[in-house]
Amino acid sequence: MAGAGLGVVSTYGREYETALNGTPKLSAPSDLKITEIKCGYIRGGSGLFVKIHTNQGIWGCGEGADAVPGTYHLVQMFGRMLKDQNPLNVNRLFENIRKAGFFRGAQSGMYVAVLSAVESALWDLAGKALGLPVYQLLGGKFRDKVRVYMDTALYQSQLPKPEDFAASAKEAVDMGFTAVKFDLDQANDPNKYDRYNWTASPAELKRMYDQMAAAREAVGPNIDICADMHGRYDAVTGMRVAKMLEPIGLMWLEEPIPAENIDAYKQITDSTSTPICAGENHYLAYGFREMLEIGAVNIIMPDLQKAGGLGEGLRIANLSNLYYVPFAPHMVASYLGAMASAHVCAAVPNFMILEWQIYFHKNPMFKEIVDFDGPMVENGFITVSDKPGVGVEINEEAMKKYAVEGMPFFE
Ligand SMILES: [Mg+2]
Repeated sequence: MAGAGLGVVSTYGREYETALNGTPKLSAPSDLKITEIKCGYIRGGSGLFVKIHTNQGIWGCGEGADAVPGTYHLVQMFGRMLKDQNPLNVNRLFENIRKAGFFRGAQSGMYVAVLSAVESALWDLAGKALGLPVYQLLGGKFRDKVRVYMDTALYQSQLPKPEDFAASAKEAVDMGFTAVKFDLDQANDPNKYDRYNWTASPAELKRMYDQMAAAREAVGPNIDICADMHGRYDAVTGMRVAKMLEPIGLMWLEEPIPAENIDAYKQITDSTSTPICAGENHYLAYGFREMLEIGAVNIIMPDLQKAGGLGEGLRIANLSNLYYVPFAPHMVASYLGAMASAHVCAAVPNFMILEWQIYFHKNPMFKEIVDFDGPMVENGFITVSDKPGVGVEINEEAMKKYAVEGMPFFE
């Protein structure tokens, strides 16, 4: 028995060594060094793509969204901090950059959005270097597929009618989606009191109700419906709309008021059975701490291309899990950002749903600018990539024609 036991030990050792040697690695992890960072902008400057190069020929790509126009020099500054560093120490590099900006605005805004793009590129790079998908580096996955909801993007300037809401909800459901989102704020609504006053008039309230009722009527009780007010209203309107929409049974009412005053959020949340959701204009786990502590919202929706990246997304989700608050990330990026977000959604227990955009189906640019295997989305789910890194590559050549005049393109 003893001999057999020793035999097992020595076989185990050999097998372990074989397994280690057989693990695909493009370079010895300890020798990997960052050489340079390049970045490019598309979508009028609100889409930032960062590419981090190394001494071993492999690179990582990350995307920043929304809060990124005019950030070229921030990318360059972060690049100087990262030069000659080992990209595998993702959390340390993130913390180095964040702390270096403590007096330079690193608490929120463009600084954090660019950091999100850089941090995400580091995870992609680490995954490629180690031969593992990003979800594996984040601790493994709870699920293989990530449920998404369709943001219908009925454009506000068109003043969509209730029948447009119904048609658009139906279209998403026919495409296989089980959840849809609509915008309720309409700056051009002729029934608005004036452009600066965001108290909804009775006629505006009726418009909102009719739009949501039409969507519910079109899809029936088993489809989730969300409504976004884009932080454009005052607290009394937020409370009235949340109460008014209770019979619709929304999955959530999003940003009824601006992001800054979480006590006002709590007032609305406490006043209604409609779940209240916010977070796309909050940054870093610090930005979510008090909001969760006081119960200001029922659901959080950090944007992982803006709020701090993938590791910070994981920390925010784990923090919200302590309060039994679901994690439903906002997502307005390309498919690179969508898949990067999906890795985090797979790696946390309290994931609820991720945002998906109709532009992936209607604007050919979104297919042209990335390379990946398999369908982007199927029956309202993204299958999380098993390829090393994020599993989606940007196609610089295809992206070139969408470069913004006067803005850097991979330089
Ligand atoms: Mg929103």
